Amino acid sequence: MKIAFLGLGNMGFHMARNLAAAGYDVTGFDVVEKALHAIAEHGVTPADSARAAVDGADVVITMFPAGQHVLEAYQNDLLDAAKENTLFIDSSTIAVDDAKQAAEMARAAGHRAIDAPVSGGTKGADQGTLTFMVGGNQEDFDQAKPLFEVMGRKIVHTGESGTGQAAKVVNNMALAINTIGAAEAFSLGENLGLSHQTLYDVMSTSAAQSWAVSTNCPVPGPVPEAPASHDYRPGFATALMAKDLGLAKAAIESTQTPADFGMAAYRAYTDFNTEENSGKDFSAIIQTKKKG
Ligand code: NAD
Repeated sequence: MKIAFLGLGNMGFHMARNLAAAGYDVTGFDVVEKALHAIAEHGVTPADSARAAVDGADVVITMFPAGQHVLEAYQNDLLDAAKENTLFIDSSTIAVDDAKQAAEMARAAGHRAIDAPVSGGTKGADQGTLTFMVGGNQEDFDQAKPLFEVMGRKIVHTGESGTGQAAKVVNNMALAINTIGAAEAFSLGENLGLSHQTLYDVMSTSAAQSWAVSTNCPVPGPVPEAPASHDYRPGFATALMAKDLGLAKAAIESTQTPADFGMAAYRAYTDFNTEENSGKDFSAIIQTKKKG
């Protein structure tokens, strides 16, 4: 099986490297030349252009920043240059509507398509432990699954095209709300005279337990490996959470779902996502919960 992997950034670089290490024939392309030189040292064949990368490929995987990059690349180069019936897998995090449009474009051009966004961050990409949320038909999912198993640990078939992105956006909206909830709890606890460790001991073993408390605790100390204990080095950067909440907002509006807390989380992270804060782990939102 010949794989074209486009978008060799923080995530795609490791994902392509892991596929090559598992013995797949992988050709890579990125508009940034440095990434191409670096990936060549990891068994991935660098291509001169997007069109050259997909030439003769059975599977095309894209890992781009946003929906516009996916739609433009599909439209301008990839769908046209690929051989008939190629399986297109988009693992970028993009809007549900963009994912549906990308899949429709691919099918109209005589190809197959699935959306397969991931969670697990750069660490998960590096270690091959990502979670894949996959929208598309069963046959295409079955063909792609061995590739996901190389790059990830948990693979969930969520339904038809667009549902992978739907699962991703819903999950991240809930994560943002949980994190703001944990941040407010620790700030209020502090103002009421509770130490961080005491509150952690209670909350991490009680009904308010969540990943945002137990693993990604927003205050330094109780969880030594949490970003909060390392000056909020990510982890999952605020800029990425703000981007994902923009996608959640679009989904809330297009489905007219009453989601006041999701919208509040969108506003909170959009405001927090300044130049100073965008590179901090998203649990740093607790810095907006201090008195005065
Ligand atoms: P990134 O910006 O580091 O990488 C994207 C790469 O795509 C860049 O190297 C860019 O040069 C390349 N690119 C853009 N347009 C291109 C084109 N037309 N042809 C070839 N290459 C092109 O981003 P990332 O952190 O790797 O994230 C990729 C996607 O995964 C995003 O949608 C992001 O939201 C999502 N995601 C990221 C994380 C994370 O922790 N970084 C976690 C989960 C999901």
